[in-house]
Amino acid sequence: MFSYRHAFHAGAHPDVIKHTMLIAILRHLIQKDTALTVVDTHAGAGLYRLDGDYAGTSGEAADGVIKLASSLEDLDAAAPAIRDYLEVIAGFNTPGQLKIYPGSPFITQRLLRPEARDKLKLFEMHPTDSKALAGNIAQLEAGRQVSVAREDGFEGLKAFLPPPSRRALVLIDPSYEIKSDYAKVAACIQDGLKRFATGVYVVWYPIVPRAEAHDLPRRLKTLANKAGKPWLNATLAIGPPAAAPAGLPQRGPGLTASGMFVINPPHTLKAAMQAALPQYVELLGRGRGQGHTLESA
Ligand code: SAM
Repeated sequence: MFSYRHAFHAGAHPDVIKHTMLIAILRHLIQKDTALTVVDTHAGAGLYRLDGDYAGTSGEAADGVIKLASSLEDLDAAAPAIRDYLEVIAGFNTPGQLKIYPGSPFITQRLLRPEARDKLKLFEMHPTDSKALAGNIAQLEAGRQVSVAREDGFEGLKAFLPPPSRRALVLIDPSYEIKSDYAKVAACIQDGLKRFATGVYVVWYPIVPRAEAHDLPRRLKTLANKAGKPWLNATLAIGPPAAAPAGLPQRGPGLTASGMFVINPPHTLKAAMQAALPQYVELLGRGRGQGHTLESA
């Protein structure tokens, strides 16, 4: 069950779209004075070294955040959401270097406001990653603002909704290593919308040739429509890697596309992604199979 380790994939293109949208959503939500709670049901280890053993093994960040940062000569020419994303990531690194990649818990914590009593609730079930996460969070001295539970995030979320603050963002970002994750995500959203209809729900999903994966965004649309809630669905495909030069081993395709489904999105999100997604295709795309989609209702 536990072979997935996010460290292999930190800073790859799925993290780029996921964290860009997470930041854009949070920026909007923290404009209101009332306390915000963020629940991250699948938190990962929180911080990753891009030059470390895991990330170095597949080099996935090289086709993601590293490619982005190095190909964008003029940050001012980037869409505001891309610029904001790169600036947040740069804030974890010494100037001119990109060695540390923050996962969703650290990105979120950086944007939350202690003075507004914002809270972050993290679930991570992997024994090694939850230990690493707890250790990383302890360094922040964030006190009661952040809590880490080594529990099943799908189950933990149920017990948590509706949150005391009545304003919440729920990030659901499983590895989908187990086929049942797809059905669990849909069930989790269905249940969440019943318990707490005004929450902002953010689901990351892989785009892979598998019936469950194909069905998930359709199921989420149906659930949001039935509940009468607005939604936004954004996808980014970078396409398969180029053919290796003769004599060198061909890289496997890996994951070439992924999506983010948001229920109750901020009204600013669509315009932000309309500007960012074509630039992402241009900067990260590998030719054949590259593209993006953006729909909302
Ligand atoms: N959200 C993180 C980020 O953006 O930086 C990445 C999360 S990674 C894609 C998925 C994580 O979920 C893995 O670290 C895995 O160990 C953990 N996990 C798998 N099943 C889980 C479950 N049922 N509850 C909580 N965590 C789980």
